[in-house]
Amino acid sequence: MSGLVTVEEARRSVLSSCRPLDAVRVPLADALGLVAARPIFSTETVPPFANSSMDGYALRARDVAAGPAKLRVVGQLMAGDDPGALVVGEGEAVRIMTGAALPDGADAVCMIEHTRPRDGWVLIEEAVGPGTNVRRPGDDIAAGEEVFAAGESLGPAHIGVLASLGVAQVDVFPRPRVGVVSTGDELVAITGPLAPGKIRDSNRPSLLARLRADGFQAVDLGWAGDEPGALAHTLVQAAQACDAVLTSGGVSVGDRDIVRVVLEELGGQQARWWQVAVRPGKPFAFSTFPPRSTPVFGLPGNPVSALVSYELFARPALRLMAGQRSLERPRLPAVAASDMRRHPDGRLHLVRVTVKTGPAGLEARPSGGQGSHQLRALAAANALAFLPDGEGVAAGEPLEVWVLDPDGLSP
Ligand code: AMP
Ligand code: MG
Repeated sequence: MSGLVTVEEARRSVLSSCRPLDAVRVPLADALGLVAARPIFSTETVPPFANSSMDGYALRARDVAAGPAKLRVVGQLMAGDDPGALVVGEGEAVRIMTGAALPDGADAVCMIEHTRPRDGWVLIEEAVGPGTNVRRPGDDIAAGEEVFAAGESLGPAHIGVLASLGVAQVDVFPRPRVGVVSTGDELVAITGPLAPGKIRDSNRPSLLARLRADGFQAVDLGWAGDEPGALAHTLVQAAQACDAVLTSGGVSVGDRDIVRVVLEELGGQQARWWQVAVRPGKPFAFSTFPPRSTPVFGLPGNPVSALVSYELFARPALRLMAGQRSLERPRLPAVAASDMRRHPDGRLHLVRVTVKTGPAGLEARPSGGQGSHQLRALAAANALAFLPDGEGVAAGEPLEVWVLDPDGLSP
């Protein structure tokens, strides 16, 4: 199958061939960035007991209701102490530290700043209402409650919540294992001499790094040259060992565009090859391979195109496989800080831009040369700006940006 398709059409077709991986049980410490495969219920209460939120004195609110009062200090409780048989009676107080269990009889805590201790006694300088500075048991999480729904992405605070509940293992969608293989007889490795006509393979290192940055397991499958047999061999092995595979190069209409040929040979009916109405990233191939319907993404060879095509098609699909609910990066309204002109060509243009917060809101300006071989401008960019088919935008006009690095938005 071939023809000019929109980004949305190609993406929809890709996503319809992918599904979440089978859930696995992992230790809590390994769950960061993964997605809960089932709802998680609490078996414990957080906090487990009433405790003080301040350093101060635990007391009976009614003893100080009328304002300053002198109370007899009958004990002291540090965080972790068992309050045991300690009871706060009428006219009494217990010196208490943050996190210590509230002793029986007490119903409030006066913070230390509003007290004056005097051998065996304490002057409470102000009235404190019942419940003041007391954390009630279960006021964060009650036992038996659904804490996190299936599909929740587990961040550092989620890990903390689960630890506070005594959850040592969680059922999650695993991190997809994604192989990366380069094609192209012109490529040589990072080190070694650059013979005439050769260039260094930059797609494999950048795609492997991109995968790791996105929370996937990256597997280096090496280089297959422009030899269909070598590529087929690598892909057959990878279809067993990986959950998905990225290839780069060999998908345009040149003489040596072997990826399309190999995908058709191995993927049969599943192989798709498109001219996508986008720049960069026009040629793109996709298939799934038996025996596990492993998705294979045939990304274009130009270094910018490879990463942009990954963003458009592979990343959303890999996130779907990882069980994520949000597949897309955030799209935000911005303003062009300079003219961004283009000519109508039936394609969506994605401009490498730096976006910063400025007086006009998010302000976008091109980050450098926009050729699909000019990777430096993508390195300098924190977003891609959408220029729909047409003449582009003038400085001051609104446009939409696709944020690649939210940390880079601050001025
Ligand atoms: P192709 O689609 O294979 O014709 O490649 C398009 C362009 O991308 C050519 O200029 C290739 O030399 C270049 N290219 C292909 N693969 C890589 C790679 N792994 N690293 C850097 N450039 C590449
Ligand atoms: Mg090539």
